[in-house]
Amino acid sequence: MLVFILVGVVPLSFFTYVLLNTYEEKAINNRITELQNQGNMLSNMLYRTGYLTTGEDTKVDDEVTRISDIYHGRIIIVNTNLNIVKDTYSLEEGKYLISKDVIQCFLGAGSSSPIHDRENHYLKLNYPITITDNENKQIIMGVIVMNFSTKDIQSIRDSMEQRVVLFALTLAVLVVVFSIYFSGILTKPLTNVVNSIDRMTEGYMEEGVSFKGYNEIEKISDSFNHMINRMQKLENSRQEFVSNVSHELKTPITSIKVLADSLLMQEDTPVELYREFLEDIADEIDRENKIINDLLSLVKLDKTAGDMNIVAININELLEQILKRLSPIAKKQNIELIYESFRPVIAEVDEVKLSLAISNLIENGIKYNTSDGWVRVSLNADHKYFFIKIADSGIGIPEEAQDSIFERFYRVDKARSRETGGTGLGLAITKNAIQMHRGAIKVYSKEGEGTTFNVRIPLNYIA
Ligand code: ADP
Repeated sequence: MLVFILVGVVPLSFFTYVLLNTYEEKAINNRITELQNQGNMLSNMLYRTGYLTTGEDTKVDDEVTRISDIYHGRIIIVNTNLNIVKDTYSLEEGKYLISKDVIQCFLGAGSSSPIHDRENHYLKLNYPITITDNENKQIIMGVIVMNFSTKDIQSIRDSMEQRVVLFALTLAVLVVVFSIYFSGILTKPLTNVVNSIDRMTEGYMEEGVSFKGYNEIEKISDSFNHMINRMQKLENSRQEFVSNVSHELKTPITSIKVLADSLLMQEDTPVELYREFLEDIADEIDRENKIINDLLSLVKLDKTAGDMNIVAININELLEQILKRLSPIAKKQNIELIYESFRPVIAEVDEVKLSLAISNLIENGIKYNTSDGWVRVSLNADHKYFFIKIADSGIGIPEEAQDSIFERFYRVDKARSRETGGTGLGLAITKNAIQMHRGAIKVYSKEGEGTTFNVRIPLNYIA
């Protein structure tokens, strides 16, 4: 509102002030020029008629009276003796006029610059009566002293001022009214934004916001709702995650409790049964341990990319190491591990995180395989990325499940996953680790035929 008022009212006041002063200055300058012309005409007449010595000539008298009447003033004519030969007020005739201005006029200063007394509204002008002698020299024969009122100019200025000020005031009032109105219109949507945000802060998340207003405000509304949606999705997935975690952590404990209780309830339990149950309990504890370890890896990966420990390493060697580490498990299930590399690849990666991701994929290839199956790992690269492909001859993933397998705790077949010691966190960990390398992972699978995971990671780490 202030800006509106400043932009509207300040230039208006300035304009008014300049307009009035320019008018006054121009009117006074015009008046001076007119008076100088009259002085010039009068001085010729005075010299021609010899009025300066005789002081008598009706024509001159008439002319002087006419000029003083027109311009509302007093004209005094002084001759070389400083004697006043004519005073239109008839007060000082015959007397002497000795003033600084008149004497300066005689001393050849020419017509002294006119004086405009603004406060008392008059204009003073001394006009020398000159003739040119034979030697072309100017001789001063007398001075016409003119005192004129400028009240007429002043009164025009005043009435103009009144009108302009009235106009400016009306305009200023309009500007103020419009500023209040428009600033209201402009700020109302913003106030709505603030109110909506306040309501959301109080917990009314689900409402979303709808700001009507100009374009930008509607854009804010859209972005805001977008953000709220995202926040809500995050909140939902967080809640789901927490409930999944609790559930997963509770399952082994429930089993342990059941096993322990059944042992306690029976009397004279044979030692073999104790042994069997305790082995089961130990298995459940192992499972609990695995879930906790996987959760910890996931939480670590969820942290910011600042935790990346990036080093240029030989990917061929890394894959060979992983395969070597996993070969005993594969052998146990009679699964062949095949490795093929199309070229040597050196890339900037976090070795621990990448090998965790790839190990999970190969382990899954072994776990979800058929007997006498195979898992083939191949490595390739172009100028920008390296590609790791992990294909298996396993049970495959049903099409409808393929979108969900990267979700935390998702398992296609819970019983089988549990049997093989799966937690449902492996692929979530893998995906996180790959994304932290700015990479991508894709799955192709056909039930009963096998599964292929394609991983693509930039050769140079992009921070
Ligand atoms: P899990 O710990 O159960 O293996 P993952 O997150 O590693 O959890 O995998 C999620 C689910 O995806 C698995 O339970 C399994 O059903 C399916 N899956 C993953 N990899 C394969 C694969 N290579 N072949 C068939 N199914 C797979």
